[in-house]
Amino acid sequence: MLEIGLTGGIGSGKSTAASGFVRRGAFLIDADQIVRDLQQPGEKVFEEMLSQWGTEILTPDGQLDRQLVANIVFSNPDELTVLNGIVHPAVRDEMTRRREVHLDTDNTVILDIPLLVESGYRNFDAIIVVDVDTEIAVERLVKYRSFDEDDARNRIQKQATRESRTEIANYVIENNDSLEVFEEEIDKCWEWVESIERPEVGRELPPLISKE
Ligand code: ATP
Repeated sequence: MLEIGLTGGIGSGKSTAASGFVRRGAFLIDADQIVRDLQQPGEKVFEEMLSQWGTEILTPDGQLDRQLVANIVFSNPDELTVLNGIVHPAVRDEMTRRREVHLDTDNTVILDIPLLVESGYRNFDAIIVVDVDTEIAVERLVKYRSFDEDDARNRIQKQATRESRTEIANYVIENNDSLEVFEEEIDKCWEWVESIERPEVGRELPPLISKE
């Protein structure tokens, strides 16, 4: 397995890049998707969140209302710490489980991890960062994700800085132009991925860690 960490700020284009890599033959482990899976009713993370905040974080049909949770934790750092303590270890365990499937293969596996910088884990074969100008990210979050502009700026401001991401990157994809140009950049990046020397199949990998 060739293991690649993929990260970038909110709205930078990580998911678009990840889909591009999958179309070109990569296998994807998506941290955000894992969070959504673990927050389904009946899952351990869902139950722990319910114990913490009660039914006020649910929609009328009993699903987790992610916006209500965001409202609680983004206005209170202590609540965010509690949430992270519930979610991060569970996500790490599930990522580890999904990664094990590929250990004895020669697959290229992309781990899309929004909080890669914050996690402190660096033992990937390579780290790809999608970087975008802050103003363009805000514009896209407002236009395509129906974010309120202040909320978008607030979320960006609370994340790791662009510099802290690009300084751990082995490859930076810029996403300040059209989607067509971005696809061309994804192509170039994939060519680079394919040029990386393949690690030995079945090697031992260090455990993934999470910031708890
Ligand atoms: P999040 O952090 O919220 O998960 P992300 O980093 O995964 O976001 P995407 O979902 O890939 O980012 O992109 C955010 C939005 O911007 C999407 O609606 C996507 O279609 C759009 N987008 C991405 N790149 C471009 C581009 N170059 N031109 C126009 N729109 C773009």
